[in-house]
Amino acid sequence: MHIIHISAELAPVAKEGGLADVVYGLARESNRQGHSAEVILPNYDVALEEEVDAFSCITKNLQTPFSGKTFQNSIWKGSVGGIPTYFLEPHHPKMLFERGCIYGCDDDVDRFLYFSRASLEFLMQQQPRPDIIHLHDWQTAIVAPLLMALAKDFGPPLPKVVFTVHNLEYQGRCAPGDIEKVGLQRDAFYSKGKMQDNIYPEALNLLSGGILYSDAVITVSPTYAQEVLTPEYGKGLESLLREQSNKFSGILNGLDYGYWNPETDKYLPAHFSSKEFSSNGKSHTTLSRKGYVKRVLKERLLLDEERRPLLATICRLVPQKGIELIKHAIRLASGLGAQFVLLGSSPIPSISDEFHWLQEEYAHHPHVRLILRHYEDLAHLIYAGSDMFLVPSRFEPCGLTQLIALRYGTIPIVRRTGGLKDTIFDVEQKNASPKKANGYTFDEFTPDAFESTLRRAIHCWYHEPEKWREFIIKGMEQDFSWEKPAKEYFNIYNELVGKEVHQQ
Ligand code: ADP
Repeated sequence: MHIIHISAELAPVAKEGGLADVVYGLARESNRQGHSAEVILPNYDVALEEEVDAFSCITKNLQTPFSGKTFQNSIWKGSVGGIPTYFLEPHHPKMLFERGCIYGCDDDVDRFLYFSRASLEFLMQQQPRPDIIHLHDWQTAIVAPLLMALAKDFGPPLPKVVFTVHNLEYQGRCAPGDIEKVGLQRDAFYSKGKMQDNIYPEALNLLSGGILYSDAVITVSPTYAQEVLTPEYGKGLESLLREQSNKFSGILNGLDYGYWNPETDKYLPAHFSSKEFSSNGKSHTTLSRKGYVKRVLKERLLLDEERRPLLATICRLVPQKGIELIKHAIRLASGLGAQFVLLGSSPIPSISDEFHWLQEEYAHHPHVRLILRHYEDLAHLIYAGSDMFLVPSRFEPCGLTQLIALRYGTIPIVRRTGGLKDTIFDVEQKNASPKKANGYTFDEFTPDAFESTLRRAIHCWYHEPEKWREFIIKGMEQDFSWEKPAKEYFNIYNELVGKEVHQQ
């Protein structure tokens, strides 16, 4: 099966959040299991070139009609972690992807509409054409209605379209006339039940186009797939998703265990594992080296040497992630006998300012450190060197950070919502399956519920070290790799491609 992902992000070359990790992990696993998966991505000026092998230009003459004009593009090809990847470089006077960022420009809608149209144009010129076009989030959603509208021009065979929605919060609302730039007729799509926005009827909603016109729609965990059918989580798209329930489902994200691996991680000063080995007739693990990584991390952060549990959070600082509860933990940590490190950045100026003030307030604190940037290497060190990882989200489609933490022997403390509910099970819950239990959880989005859960975990760390060690080992040995979820995606791909054969 030949699959092409059209995506705005791909780890580690162009990453803002989980979308990048997911496209990377799923494409690599697809290739590992014998399929042929490729990715097409904008050629951002901020892309990390050192993460791309064998980078070369394959054409300078791809033409894209946009806003009534035709523009040339170059396509570069390279390998990212073994994934064949195309990079689209528009020769457009607005330098669409040379802005020093991935998102956050006033014309983001135009930038990604352009990318979508040009990518589709390129893919349809390929011989043979892909079996599956796999779209991700609002940035590439327009490809689904475009392929339908241009089907006659392209001619058969047409690929099937799979659309993964990573987060319903971001819907790509725009002016109804914007889709004319890519060649779609406004009146054919801007109406109720089509792409007109349900909450702001004067706007057009790109995400809804992806949902309506793709052959299969997936979201990133079974619990989130249920939650989004309600007004609280569906953000205006709940009724559309309910109508499309025959092609809508939830598949839990996996983690790329080649990239996220404490035994080989290139960013760690020492490697460790929960695996037992024998020497002198005794069995050992290398888990004690996690303590060394913790020491290195504390030195880098200038935290006090005192023996205390280290709590960590790594996230985009947006309301979804539970900003109030994160601030509560910062204020609380030291008094609970713990230390705290936050690594995060915010696209929202008011939240960014607030955290910069907090950062200043705690600048010389012996037990608290805030780092307000995106740092891949420090993220790895924090996952590996901390004791507990906090994810107090208001909602969480899947969440990858709790899975990375588990892999690095850091116990997750999470609010039970979305994918967090599907992956983390409380070690003290009487009815929980002991095989699954792997962290601490709470339900209510309140400081009290969070605080009492933190206290339970910190108590165990101080007073039951043997039990804590068992938790660590169990979490590290659980399997949240892509192997099983990728098979669920293949079942959907196969069903779609099979249907086509059946109809012919
Ligand atoms: P989301 O996609 O909502 O941002 P996920 O939990 O799915 O959240 O994925 C977040 C990914 O982004 C993880 O790989 C995490 O390590 C990474 N990440 C988030 N913030 C930072 C940061 N400031 N520095 C480095 N990595 C970060």
